[in-house]
Amino acid sequence: MQLPDEKRLELRTSRLLLVIGLVSYAIFWVIIDRLGMRDPQPLRYIAVMILIAAALAASFVSNFAKKHLRKLVIILLYVIASHFFLLLYTFRLAPVQMIDMLIFLSAVTATSTFIFESRAGLLSFLLFSTAGAAVAAYAVKDPLVDIYQFFAAIAVLGFVGFMAMAYQMRMLDKIRGSEQQLRNAIQQSHRYDFIVNTSREFMTLINREYKYEAVNDAYCEAHHKPREILIGKPVTEVWGGDLFERVIRGYLDECFKGNIVNYGVGFEFPALGPRFFDVTYYPYRGAGDEITHAVVVSRDHTEKKIAEDRLIHEASHDALTGLPNRHLLTDRIGHALKKKTREDDFDFALLFLDLDRFKIVNDTMGHLAGDKLIIAVARVLEKCTRPGDTVGRLGGDEFVLLLENTNLQGAEAVASRILRELSQPLMLGDSEVFTGASIGIAPYVSGYARSEEMLRDADTAMYRSKALGRSRYTIFDEEMRFAIKEQLTLEAEMRHGLERGEFTVYFQPIFKLTDGTLTGYETLLRWKHSRRGVLGPSVFLAVAEEANLIDPLGEFVLREACRFLSRLPGKDTFVSVNVSAKQFQRHGILESVIQSLADFSAEPSRLMLELKEASFARGFDEVASILRALSRLGVKLAVDNFGTGNASIVNLKGLPLHMLKIDGSFARGLPHDASDRALVAGMISIAHSLGIVAGATMVETASQETLLRSLGCDTAQGFHFAEPADSSAWLSQAR
Ligand code: GH3
Ligand code: MG
Repeated sequence: MQLPDEKRLELRTSRLLLVIGLVSYAIFWVIIDRLGMRDPQPLRYIAVMILIAAALAASFVSNFAKKHLRKLVIILLYVIASHFFLLLYTFRLAPVQMIDMLIFLSAVTATSTFIFESRAGLLSFLLFSTAGAAVAAYAVKDPLVDIYQFFAAIAVLGFVGFMAMAYQMRMLDKIRGSEQQLRNAIQQSHRYDFIVNTSREFMTLINREYKYEAVNDAYCEAHHKPREILIGKPVTEVWGGDLFERVIRGYLDECFKGNIVNYGVGFEFPALGPRFFDVTYYPYRGAGDEITHAVVVSRDHTEKKIAEDRLIHEASHDALTGLPNRHLLTDRIGHALKKKTREDDFDFALLFLDLDRFKIVNDTMGHLAGDKLIIAVARVLEKCTRPGDTVGRLGGDEFVLLLENTNLQGAEAVASRILRELSQPLMLGDSEVFTGASIGIAPYVSGYARSEEMLRDADTAMYRSKALGRSRYTIFDEEMRFAIKEQLTLEAEMRHGLERGEFTVYFQPIFKLTDGTLTGYETLLRWKHSRRGVLGPSVFLAVAEEANLIDPLGEFVLREACRFLSRLPGKDTFVSVNVSAKQFQRHGILESVIQSLADFSAEPSRLMLELKEASFARGFDEVASILRALSRLGVKLAVDNFGTGNASIVNLKGLPLHMLKIDGSFARGLPHDASDRALVAGMISIAHSLGIVAGATMVETASQETLLRSLGCDTAQGFHFAEPADSSAWLSQAR
């Protein structure tokens, strides 16, 4: 182990000076002794002075004076005292024994100031002071001055020797201390190295010339380079000039100003591939409080980032297709709307797509096949768009395409292409599936402020495509906007109308054609609109279904029918009520019927529920089970608008039906239209085959009545017999 150069010089010089002092003192004594001088005081004086000067010089060289001012003052006192005593002795003002004794004692005093610094020094002191005391004691007993002086000299010499030794010991102690410190420091440094190199974080020390001065193992491994190559290398060589200038230099400069800098960044590592880091630059201050380096610690948080990215992706994408979901789509449309406000010539359009009859795939091939079809369609849609466009899935079989930098013609071209592609069979495993789609196009027009507005319009246009026969596209236009506005107004008015009691029911009598007797009444809903007069259900029923007003309206009609029934005399006359498929789908119908019958103490067998034929075509099983439950209650059931839906006779056959009502459109052609005649005859015979009553509706003339009777139709209703009227009119007649 090496001592610092400064310390070694100090030690060497102080040793030299002490040796010079000692040697010169000894020489003087030898000279005195050899010359046999009886009065050697002046020479002794000189010798002592040289000795003291040497000791002082040694102390100064060793920096002692600077560090131990108090001790130096004592030494100086000793010097002054020895001068004083020597002068006394020289001028014979005091006996020589006493003078030398005093010199010895003061030397011991001065020496003691050193010795407490080291154990070796203390031992030397005890040794020499004991020797000195013994000599002094001997001298006092023996008056022989020369012998005494000889021993006194030895004592002084001993003192000097002791001083030298004490000082050496002190220095050695210090050296040992330094060595220990150095050893400790090296050990500590090894520990730090270990910690730094065990860390998986990258740690580097970069100087103000943007060069590496230290790098840890993890950093070397990531770069596939040994430490020796990296150290001294400019950062720019490792990371490339571009990245250095764009990112690293700015952060380093900020750090050199004394700021801790933190940022997240993705890097491509030779050994690790793309990784994401949380990088922190700490300013490192050198001895002079000046920032000399930047300590750069990079924490790899790739896994965390991947997990975070996955979460973000999952929150904004559809799990089945991986396409942007409603949330992200809405966001992107919002951006497009904003862009439009900045760039006037930026065009964009939305395509709203819903697969046609998708439920059939689910129902016939299973949900898994349905899922596969949705995925296949997603890929087709992606194929039909450009890279800047967004294809998203709203849910179910609904997709939305945001086409940027696309005008209406462009959007139409994309829609046509999609329809063309989807008209081809899609392969789901081994089986081919044909699908189609209805598309609504909403090109950007001024006035759109929110994504939802554009989505709503594209959806409306899509519904128009469905209504027009599916597998086509429709462009949203002003007329549709107007229709929506109308619908919204009607909806609001209907809500108010319900609150204000503007709805009422009329009853239309139904007669037996065989004998012309009254058999029942059909309940018909009317809206006494404050502005538009009395409105029939055809004006508002569709809107009521859309706006979820069908339940309160249906409930109202049912209760009014039961009220009428409870006041109607006779035991056989029934009252029929039209019930929509939506009411059936909401399941509460059975409870409503039971409640209404109970509230008005009406006979269940006198209540008839009419369901449109179309209701039997879709979701048949659900309808059938409720119909059976109603039938068990005793309630009669009728199929309304027969001939317009596509219910299968097989379905109808298994149901507890009472009546089959032929759609009014067939009666219109009677008695002249031969095909209507044949159709009506057929329907009557179907009813009879099913063992139920055949009823004609919208009969307006006597000739229609005659023909229907001749065809065997059982009942009829229509203006020819009676127009609908409110309950009071019929009740007063009945009494
Ligand atoms: P339309 O031509 O009127 O659109 O008839 P449709 O049969 O396509 O019916 P609609 O669009 O109203 O309903 C879509 C169906 O998609 C309803 C639901 O049963 C089904 N569906 C919704 N989400 C999923 C899904 O993630 N996977 C599958 N397989 N089916 C779904
Ligand atoms: Mg669909």
